[in-house]
Amino acid sequence: MPQPSPRPTAAELDRQVLRLYAVARRARTISGILAHSQATGDGVAYASARIPRALSAAQRLLALPGVADHEETPYALSFLKQAEQQLKAPSTRLLRLAAAARQAAARADEADDDLRVVVFGHIEESCRFLVNAAVIQPVLGRRGWTDRERQASEALQQQAARWGLTEDANDVRPTPPTVPAYLSQQAAERAAARARCAAGIRCTEPTCLAYGAVKVTYPVDSWLCAECIEATNIRLKAAGHAPDTVRPIPGGTPERGRYTVTLYNAIGKGARSVQCSSPQRAQFIAETVRPFNNTGYTIQVTAPPPN
Ligand SMILES: [Zn+2]
Repeated sequence: MPQPSPRPTAAELDRQVLRLYAVARRARTISGILAHSQATGDGVAYASARIPRALSAAQRLLALPGVADHEETPYALSFLKQAEQQLKAPSTRLLRLAAAARQAAARADEADDDLRVVVFGHIEESCRFLVNAAVIQPVLGRRGWTDRERQASEALQQQAARWGLTEDANDVRPTPPTVPAYLSQQAAERAAARARCAAGIRCTEPTCLAYGAVKVTYPVDSWLCAECIEATNIRLKAAGHAPDTVRPIPGGTPERGRYTVTLYNAIGKGARSVQCSSPQRAQFIAETVRPFNNTGYTIQVTAPPPN
């Protein structure tokens, strides 16, 4: 019986170095998630969990005889170092903050807390802007942030802590900190839109400002208020149509149906949809979510109310 050798064979060593290499490449690929300003909270959490695991797997492989001295190993180590640096980068902290702010904004939205929706939205946007600056600057020949951006990052983290968004925030005050005028202005506009939309969907007749419109039989995809239904019928009758061509669709505007708001770019490409569970919410989304400079919207009922 041959005794197992304490030294690995060349083939074994190659296999271990290949494993190290695979681990290192995977870590570097995953760390790429953290170089994107639009990384989601799930993506950041995944990278934050997987990179340390890859680093310890690499440490175990490096401890095997011969692996650390292998000629291919430094290359693998450079990948691991890149991943570790990305994980510890200040911009990665901001991505975590952006994800926390997005979650907190969604909770505030559910609670109709317009000031917090606006403040948290602003914090998220500022985080992603700075992450983007950290990512694109190497392309422009600079590395990392300017002093000004570094200061902005510090200020942002302090602001987030005052609002209870960071893990080390133990000073969460029930009364919100003071905010710049433009943010309280935005919050006031949002609250005003919420109040307007309490009456329901806005009449789609371009000259009409009324809320509380209903889905009608004609024109297709229109929402009309009572006055515009009457006016349209008078106009159609004069043109020879039946007197009640425009009627509310029975059950066409359910209080608890599923509404789809499609927000589109009125002067270019692009659109996105948001699902809502009431006409009030649909109109509120249509008026407050502006993904494009020239955002247009349509509202459709996509499912009957749940039983
Ligand atoms: Zn109208």
